[in-house]
Amino acid sequence: MLIGVPKEIKNHEYRVGLTPAGVRELVAHGHQVMVEKQAGTAIGFTDDQYQSAGARMVDTAAEIFARSEMIIKVKEPQPVEYMQLRPGQILYTYLHLAPDPEQTKGLVESGAICIAYETVTDIRGGLPLLAPMSEVAGRMALQAAARALEKSQGGSGVLLGGVPGVAPGHVTVLGGGVVGINAARMAMGLGADVTILDKSLPRLKEIDNDFDGRIKTLYSTRDAIEAQLKVADAVIGAVLIPGAAAPKLVTRDMLKLMKPGSVLVDVAIDQGGCFETSHATTHQEPTYVVDGVTHYCVANMPGGVARTSTVALTNATLAFALAIAEKGVKRALLEDGHLKNGLNVCCGKVTYEAVARDLGYEY
Ligand code: NAD
Repeated sequence: MLIGVPKEIKNHEYRVGLTPAGVRELVAHGHQVMVEKQAGTAIGFTDDQYQSAGARMVDTAAEIFARSEMIIKVKEPQPVEYMQLRPGQILYTYLHLAPDPEQTKGLVESGAICIAYETVTDIRGGLPLLAPMSEVAGRMALQAAARALEKSQGGSGVLLGGVPGVAPGHVTVLGGGVVGINAARMAMGLGADVTILDKSLPRLKEIDNDFDGRIKTLYSTRDAIEAQLKVADAVIGAVLIPGAAAPKLVTRDMLKLMKPGSVLVDVAIDQGGCFETSHATTHQEPTYVVDGVTHYCVANMPGGVARTSTVALTNATLAFALAIAEKGVKRALLEDGHLKNGLNVCCGKVTYEAVARDLGYEY
């Protein structure tokens, strides 16, 4: 199969659809890969590395869109990109169509076969192509919190790990899923005192077993959250109710319970945020202060560590890309229901129920 990887064009997006290692695997299986020149340069994947891996470097995205049978990307296609898609061409990338009627219309009109990373499932009911970005965001949340606590950043001046003779800082994590557990693991690694709150008792049991009690667990109630706000130096918001806006677990009124200079990191901001006072920020200006509490609410955290995120994403997407290339998209989808769950738009139709329902398409 002829596979194409264009350079991402969304503002401040430095990730790329395939690493050189990913290209090499596809080429070793007898496929051809075209990569747009400079696609990975910003994160240290040079054109030479892609070429050594077997890619053919091309000057323009137009050439990739015109010739590839499958296009592998990271972010949803921008208008200038989806206008170039053609009937039967495969698009394999994040799409997030439900809140995006214009893109959905563009993809429907293109006649392309569009597989969204975020709705591919696995045998345990997880989202394997979304999980790597949650892992990245969870781990990054702790870095963001630790930095925001520094005095020069307007923080309380607490070192999360403490030192001998000085108590460590306290980190509270709301939601013990993929983001939450990765944030907690980093906090524990730093030597902080860590508590995770979740609504799922089985999940809390699992965490208690896995960490031998070194991470404290609490059932998530208003009482428990309020008690944590009084002692926390950093609170990480990592809850998710699938398909719904994040619940507002910390109201503005509750901020007065917190210590001055403490930090809220709202990773759930891409679902509207789980703190009432959250609004989305960018890597250029990641924080703001409300009632003496620093808020970090970057909606696209993995983009800040684009190199690690690119490698993690290719690790997760490559096996499906290989299956599509080896078997052809029709057989690959028929043989793997989990990959088929990723099919959002196919040959002029919306094929994902929630998107069709939200945007008024026939399903
Ligand atoms: P997940 O499904 O793995 O975990 C969510 C957890 O929240 C579950 O364990 C669930 O039981 C728990 N939960 C639900 N309601 C709760 C409540 N009221 N109190 C406590 N816990 C509750 O989800 P995830 O992959 O960890 O993602 C978490 C959030 O992070 C999502 O909103 C996701 O979109 C977001 N995210 C953001 C970025 C970013 O760049 N900002 C990156 C990746 C993920």
